[in-house]
Amino acid sequence: MTAAPDLELRLVATHPPGVLRRCKRCDDKRTFLPTDKFRVNAHQRRIDVWLIYKCRVCDVTWNATVHTRILPSDISEERHQNYISNDPATAREVAFDLDMLRRNDAQFEEKLDHRVEGGSIDELTQKEARVTIDPGVVTHVRLDRFLKTLLGISTRRFNELVDSGGVKILSEMTRLDKRMKRKVELLVDLDAVRALRAEAERIAQMIEQTGTRVEEGEEEDEDQ
Ligand SMILES: [Zn+2]
Repeated sequence: MTAAPDLELRLVATHPPGVLRRCKRCDDKRTFLPTDKFRVNAHQRRIDVWLIYKCRVCDVTWNATVHTRILPSDISEERHQNYISNDPATAREVAFDLDMLRRNDAQFEEKLDHRVEGGSIDELTQKEARVTIDPGVVTHVRLDRFLKTLLGISTRRFNELVDSGGVKILSEMTRLDKRMKRKVELLVDLDAVRALRAEAERIAQMIEQTGTRVEEGEEEDEDQ
């Protein structure tokens, strides 16, 4: 058993992904948004379950397959009832299920509006912290950009931090310059982060006091 991370962050999407597909009525590619309605068909003892999506423009529906020819006993009675009664929480849960969308070969929105939950780096007082980031269904965020914002340092200082070994990636198949697709685990040298922040603060104060222009070498990100 390893100890719990010092900081466990989660990206939480504020709405489920829309599905991009050709709408027959609009005769164009449209975003279909999930409704909180299921369609349940019975075939003797077996059932099919779909989640109903609607074209954002014209309300034409598209049904995403949730279950095909399952026995009600394959799922809980409560779950079965939730499908039949169009339980909103169940519909929301299904709409956030990317595996369900992938099984439907659906092309879905990747850039989801989201918030970060689980705390802040500023609450930590130790020298070095183990941090996990669970992107959940938010799969478009690059790890380096997320960390730069999380740590509150510029691109140049973030690169300095990385070059000096201040960020160690503990999870496999993870790179700083890639989008987070699964949970990431890192070791961050917080003392180094504090030093970089203090340096930035000192330079900002110097500029304010003396009006001196200091070359910061800050570059803009061309993406995001
Ligand atoms: Zn349409």
